[in-house]
Amino acid sequence: MTVALEHPCKPEVLALGGTSIRREVVGQFQFGCVIDNRLVALPDWRVTTDNSGVAAEVARILGGRTESALINGSDPPSVQVIIDGPGGIATHMKLWGSRGLMHHCDGVVFLSPDGDRGRPCGCPRLMADRKEQANLGRRPQPNRVAIFQLAGNYDMGAFRFQSTSWKHAEDSA
Ligand SMILES: [Zn+2]
Repeated sequence: MTVALEHPCKPEVLALGGTSIRREVVGQFQFGCVIDNRLVALPDWRVTTDNSGVAAEVARILGGRTESALINGSDPPSVQVIIDGPGGIATHMKLWGSRGLMHHCDGVVFLSPDGDRGRPCGCPRLMADRKEQANLGRRPQPNRVAIFQLAGNYDMGAFRFQSTSWKHAEDSA
């Protein structure tokens, strides 16, 4: 079940903290998809969920329509979301290799495996240098995940937004 909503490039964060957001994730917001191993930006928000009730509610609130395939929605200028504190957004840096996850850090220290956690990872300090190294396949790419609820609709459950955009990683740095 997919709902597509016109444009904005990222969720607008209304508030941090305070809400009871620890709910089951019921859907995912996407603004891009992978085609031929390249990330392609979509002109619309795409919201995917297994729950037809959630799909209908998202479409009602945000002005999209639901079908069994991608549909273009109408409006809204942005998506207002509630993120539960700093823990609601995490930016990890990941480099995948033929044997799985080769380098997993926050840009400064390793986040995994457990034996390396907290040790300096050796990534460049400057975002521009990280990006250059990542493009050469030597250093990890950003992987940013936000768990949030739609503003004013806290009974519906939480949504996940995942981005591998350097722009989003820079915004959160
Ligand atoms: Zn690193």
